[in-house]
Amino acid sequence: MLQAQLLAPRELVLAEVPIPEPQAGEVVVRVRVALTCGTDLKTYRRGHAKLPFGPFGHEGAGDVVAIGEGVSRVAIGDPVTWMPTAPCEACDMCLRGRYNLCRNLFDSVVLGTYAEYVRLSARVARVHLFRLEGLDYLQGAFAEPLACVLHAWRVLEPLPGNTVAILGAGVMGYLHLMEARARGCEVTMIARRAERLRLAQELGARTLVAEPSAVSEQYDVVIEATGARIVWETAPNLCLPGGKVLFYSGLAKGETVCLNAEQLHYGERTLLGSFHLTTQDALNALERLRSGVLPVERLVSATRPLSEIVSVYEALDRGEGMKYAIVPG
Ligand SMILES: [Zn+2]
Ligand SMILES: [Zn+2]
Repeated sequence: MLQAQLLAPRELVLAEVPIPEPQAGEVVVRVRVALTCGTDLKTYRRGHAKLPFGPFGHEGAGDVVAIGEGVSRVAIGDPVTWMPTAPCEACDMCLRGRYNLCRNLFDSVVLGTYAEYVRLSARVARVHLFRLEGLDYLQGAFAEPLACVLHAWRVLEPLPGNTVAILGAGVMGYLHLMEARARGCEVTMIARRAERLRLAQELGARTLVAEPSAVSEQYDVVIEATGARIVWETAPNLCLPGGKVLFYSGLAKGETVCLNAEQLHYGERTLLGSFHLTTQDALNALERLRSGVLPVERLVSATRPLSEIVSVYEALDRGEGMKYAIVPG
């Protein structure tokens, strides 16, 4: 079978490898759709602090074609999607119920969705494998990124009627926008490139073409979705006193930021981080997708065959397109 492998930054190849066979507890899926992701693009450009080089891609959906001993959650032929990680359920964070912060989250990570087949680890197959039940493969593949966004909204706990500013018009910013609109929030999306904001207008957001540092308006909730240090430092300026700032997009390992202390203390602004997802977030994402209120298909720039995965990443690296659907031949 064909499998995309990232060997080093910007060294992506399509290799011929054996079709995986499941060990006890594992599941092998024939991939029908995989999605490119901002995290994968960052890894492509500079590597990833927690993830190894090798089989590439982590968002996908497909059909179960083989199951290892002891698997009862799914049967051969089931259309499924999965989360690329699952909590160990034994570490101190898991025992506190903070499953997204599991110390062993990446032990059994499933990578390699840009391939014809992918093998799901026993932990993922046991905890984070879901039948599509009415979703198509493309919608199913959105479950993971959407679950991360829904986790952030559980951390945020916005009040009805809150105004929301989203800084950054990438896929994650757009998923935040869709969730905010579904909850009836008034949303302003702020980004530098006007062409990136066209869809935001169609989805019912106000838009501002601007550097966040040049914006003088303030909002109840500010969501940082650019992963740029300067925008992290600016985000609290856009927040009303008593409001909340959510740092959604991570920065590079070891990077530090400088924040205005007066604003935080006297303005009682709350700074929040959110990371990854829990099982509950995954289930909520699947339910949200099934309800059809989030037009996630609109975030797909184009559908490309697996054979073009290298040129797709070269295009993403040049800033062309937002999210591609990759379909094996
Ligand atoms: Zn992702
Ligand atoms: Zn754990």
